Amino acid sequence: MTDKLDLDTLAVRAGIHRSQFNEHSEALYLTSSYVFNNAQQAAERFANREPGNIYSRFTNPTVTAFQERLAALEGGESCIATASGMSAILTTVMGLLKAGDHIVTSHSIFGASVQLFANIMARFGVETSFVALSDLKAWEAAVRPNTRMFYLETPSNPTMELVDIKALSHMAHAAKATLVVDNCFCTPILQRPLDLGADIVIHSATKYLDGQGRVLGGAIVGSQALLGEGIAHFLRTAGPTLSAFNAWVLLKGLETLRIRMDAQSATALALASWLEQHPSVSRVVYPGLKSHPQHELAQRQQSGGGAMVAFNVKGGQKKAWQVIDSTKVISITANLGDTKTTITHPATTTHGRLSDEVRMAAGIGPEMVRVSVGLESLADLQHDLARGLD
Ligand SMILES: *Cc1c(COP(=O)(O)O)cnc(C)c1O
Repeated sequence: MTDKLDLDTLAVRAGIHRSQFNEHSEALYLTSSYVFNNAQQAAERFANREPGNIYSRFTNPTVTAFQERLAALEGGESCIATASGMSAILTTVMGLLKAGDHIVTSHSIFGASVQLFANIMARFGVETSFVALSDLKAWEAAVRPNTRMFYLETPSNPTMELVDIKALSHMAHAAKATLVVDNCFCTPILQRPLDLGADIVIHSATKYLDGQGRVLGGAIVGSQALLGEGIAHFLRTAGPTLSAFNAWVLLKGLETLRIRMDAQSATALALASWLEQHPSVSRVVYPGLKSHPQHELAQRQQSGGGAMVAFNVKGGQKKAWQVIDSTKVISITANLGDTKTTITHPATTTHGRLSDEVRMAAGIGPEMVRVSVGLESLADLQHDLARGLD
């Protein structure tokens, strides 16, 4: 029934399977296991000859509902939900790669993702090359005979750099590598990587999909062929499963995703334009601004600039911290994608554990401040930032 429906309709209707009680809202199934009618049925389910729930490490009806709804929004065949965004990335890598394989990714990915690839996966014999995100020639040059995965975020965190997904998908497929896109910043409302040739979309559902800063969650979206074997097997066996309660919260989050993304992006654009005119600000990076070096690509690839704004203040780290510490409305917290605007100093927090060299290569200087724009009024946000900037 969901095939021909618009995104807005899918966001509130996809994934609903009513129980015998005909509840209108999605039910929350807090159960760790499921009862079989008899021993024969248990045997059939365990042997995978009969579909159905066995144990909530494998499947749970509330988690399944969230998976179906997100798959519908991303235009993917299949979705596997995980306990967090990082466990979605881990599950994808562990499910698809083996010792001796090689990943190409960029410096401009989430700090923990850099550590996962460079420190943890390296111990298991998976090597990673880090290139400049928007430099297609660098991606091409990094490909080796054993390259099996391209991994990227666009726009990147926190530097808001973009890469042409379609161009990279051709390159990845020529190398017989899987293209994985972390779609955290845009969500399917602003960008659908699978339509552009990506094979897998990753989400930290903790961010915009919940959007209200309540739960951790993650998701992997892609074809049944890619998700059904290694990735599903890793999830069932290793157990980084999304809880039913968190899935239920996320299901409700998806219902308001469109109106939140639209409203937060509109405020972000206005705030970015205002910051650009401010004498204490040396640079604003926001894909929706004409001054963004990849504005044309942003217009083509995304249906909006998103709600993340990064800017450099004149006066280095001291002034950056002053701007952060002078806020009274905006929250000083590392989370993003919330209805409440948050402010961070990436160089000393989210990206603080990277080496200076890697951090500078990613363009994250001590003068950079990152704002995740929420649903407060533009005037109140401007006033709050002006306190430290003026
Ligand atoms: C937060 C984040 C992650 C990790 O997600 P968690 O839910 O915190 O594990 C991955 N990628 C990006 C872009 C993020 O912002």
